[in-house]
Amino acid sequence: MAVAQQDHAHAVVGNDELLMRLDRDIRSGRLSHAYILDGRKGSGRHTLARYICAAIACENCPGQSPSLRDEDQMGFFDLLDDVSSPREIPADAPLPCWECLACEKVLEEKCPDIQVIGRDGKASIGVEAIRFLRSDVLIPPNDLDTKVYIIEDAETMTVQAQNALLLTLEEPPPYVLFLLLCDGADHLLETIRSRAPVLRTRPIPDGDIREYLRARRCTLSEEDMEAVILRADGCIGQALTLADARSVKPILKMRETCDEFMEVMAARRYDTLPAVLARFGNKRDGVVELLALVTLATRDLILLRHGDGVRLKYYTDRVGAEELSCRFTTKSLLGLYAALGRAADALESNGNIRLTLMGIAVELGS
Ligand SMILES: [Zn+2]
Repeated sequence: MAVAQQDHAHAVVGNDELLMRLDRDIRSGRLSHAYILDGRKGSGRHTLARYICAAIACENCPGQSPSLRDEDQMGFFDLLDDVSSPREIPADAPLPCWECLACEKVLEEKCPDIQVIGRDGKASIGVEAIRFLRSDVLIPPNDLDTKVYIIEDAETMTVQAQNALLLTLEEPPPYVLFLLLCDGADHLLETIRSRAPVLRTRPIPDGDIREYLRARRCTLSEEDMEAVILRADGCIGQALTLADARSVKPILKMRETCDEFMEVMAARRYDTLPAVLARFGNKRDGVVELLALVTLATRDLILLRHGDGVRLKYYTDRVGAEELSCRFTTKSLLGLYAALGRAADALESNGNIRLTLMGIAVELGS
């Protein structure tokens, strides 16, 4: 069954199973008072959270009492009528509708009953933020029947903060819904996880991302779009960011440098290696990203040498990649892969960028 709201521009892409489960929970009025949305950045956690908020806020939601919906516009008999026969909506009616005032407020982030708690630029979410939440939770909602707290980067909550949250999770007011967005639910205390179902967002298939970008009238050429889709690696949020004209240029530039690096390695022109590595620049984030790209390219070539059914993560032109892989030996590719891994480790533990890149040149050139 496809969830009826999927055709809309704000609809969730991918994560169909989660969506169906949530849709069922919402329509039957059996939403848990807390959910953990676990997945990588860009895998749809925020979109799912927005979907849940809109679905419970939507004026078409069976859970919303008429007095809280549009009291001002309803006549006295309308209200009486509604009380005597609770509104039921067919299973295929769109929920959320994305068109009513309540849905609009959610989209514009203007709903007073939805609060977002985040790191606020800090490394972690401290106990003060949760203490605030614990007192705020006692105030009933304004517009909706439910008060929603979205905790972003929930895995960064300190143990003290988690323990404070636990007190509320154990005995929440009936109108409260917590959405804990995290990347790695394992970082949360077992006691928290046992009180909230963990919903894991899955990488979105390339085909769905392609369709989504096309539907949004993405102006990239086919080839550039493929590069973006590969780079996004199943994250629709990432794909959207990358598809932006300002972001796509640096990606294409990085791919160019990566291709050049792989060509130097294939042609064994090790004397030009330092010059190509110098083009990686000296900004840590940029170098880390380029190394990650080269690692993906190397991975593709290794897998292509050992089987043809693999899904490529870097190369958009499969035939070209196959030809390139034939110019390497498996041993040299594995050596390259290992050297890149060591370089990435060194950079992660704050190693000197120039020394790390020189280390790669010496190791591969020798
Ligand atoms: Zn609506």
